[in-house]
Amino acid sequence: MEVATNPKMTECDVLVVGAGPAGSGAARACARAGLKTVIVEKRREIGYPVHCAEGMGNYLLPFMPFNIPHDQFVWKTDGIEFWAEDITVRRSGVLWSGYTVNRREFDKWLVRKATKAGAQLMLETELVDFEFKHNHVVEKAVLRGKQGKVEIKPKVVVGADGSDSTTLKLLGEYHPKKGATAEIYAWEMHNMKLTSPKYEQIFVGDFTETGYAYVFPISKTKANVGIGCAFPKKPIEEYFNEFLEIPEMKRQVRNAIRAEDKGGKANALPLCDKWHYGNILLAGDSADQNFKPFVEGILPAVICGDIAGKTIAKHIQGKGKLDEYTHNVKQVLEPLLHQSNQVGNLIYDLFNMKEPKEYLLLLNLLADLNTPEKIRQMQTQTYEHIKDKTLEWQKPQKQIPTQINEYLYHQYLKTERLIHRLLG
Ligand SMILES: Cc1cc2nc3c(=O)[nH]c(=O)nc-3n(C[C@H](O)[C@H](O)[C@H](O)COP(=O)(O)OP(=O)(O)OC[C@H]3O[C@@H](n4cnc5c(N)ncnc54)[C@H](O)[C@@H]3O)c2cc1C
Repeated sequence: MEVATNPKMTECDVLVVGAGPAGSGAARACARAGLKTVIVEKRREIGYPVHCAEGMGNYLLPFMPFNIPHDQFVWKTDGIEFWAEDITVRRSGVLWSGYTVNRREFDKWLVRKATKAGAQLMLETELVDFEFKHNHVVEKAVLRGKQGKVEIKPKVVVGADGSDSTTLKLLGEYHPKKGATAEIYAWEMHNMKLTSPKYEQIFVGDFTETGYAYVFPISKTKANVGIGCAFPKKPIEEYFNEFLEIPEMKRQVRNAIRAEDKGGKANALPLCDKWHYGNILLAGDSADQNFKPFVEGILPAVICGDIAGKTIAKHIQGKGKLDEYTHNVKQVLEPLLHQSNQVGNLIYDLFNMKEPKEYLLLLNLLADLNTPEKIRQMQTQTYEHIKDKTLEWQKPQKQIPTQINEYLYHQYLKTERLIHRLLG
């Protein structure tokens, strides 16, 4: 990996802040278009520490701008099992299957794609300030790193600095709603006795009233186990310990050990109003470009980063404008984005219900048993009625019901051959 320790460049076409999936995707696209591109990353090691459950859905692969080699996938999953109120619903098939990656390696592989294309990477270098030419137009970025203070004059900035975005804060546009950033307490656990190692597991229940818990397998005996909470009323670790005590988990973790802390903060609602300010484009978590309900953001960040990079290239070559970015993203990722916003808002409404049927409705939403509109109508139905309807899903696979799934399914079929090629 080419790392610049003492960069000579004081001017560049594009300054990318953050070398996560969004930043690497953007930097690769800019560098491939021949732009002078600098990526700054405050961490010492790309991708580490890991704050992620490392799962990625098959359904997003058709939207990726490049091939992911097989050796990046450490485990293959056939679907997801959802659990609430002693009901287990299993979803499988192309839209529910996926892969587990190793983010410590995957993020390095991604940034290498950017540096191979010609982007200059500065590790242990943090964006600390902007000087603005006028409203939202950055003249100069002030960076702090092991080489001291560095100033760079970029034509365009990509804010790919995640859910705690300095770019947004310096812009004065960091306005998360209360609870928008959920706390996630998570561990990579070893020596587990997984009941179904080929299935991811999602749990809802009173062990976390404003979130859900997950088990994402990495092998037959290892998994990322975590619990999220939007409005924690006590230390989040306590929720985790209670979750491990439920019978379904107790069996699986009896002899397990906590090997690596992988918790963090995930933004479940937007942090700002727009994805484009002046000469700045936002990509990835800073722009809330992750898909609810699972806050799935690895592949969306790469996809949107790539679109940001291509939009910037056209702009600098005088063939397009930066304000086309939002439209360009929507062209690729609608109707998924729309669905994700609807689901995100509904989840927060359900968190506020404070009635036992909240968990059944959450199960319906997470497992996509009904559309968000239908689930809103179901809020007025009795607990018993909702439970009976949900129990029907315990029977082997009913047909996929919702419009969004039909869309994705067709998208998938159209690109199935492409996927085989992408997977090498
Ligand atoms: C606990 C947890 C579990 C998750 N599980 C999954 C999952 O299973 N599947 C999935 O798809 N998504 C998951 N996500 C979401 C996913 O991790 C994010 O959506 C994804 O990493 C977003 O990529 P990004 O590039 O936008 O941001 P990040 O990956 O956060 O990268 C931002 C980078 O910017 C750097 N940075 C920040 N500030 C500065 C600064 N001032 N100067 C320089 N560098 C800076 C950071 O160090 C970081 O490297 C999970 C998130 C959490 C917290």
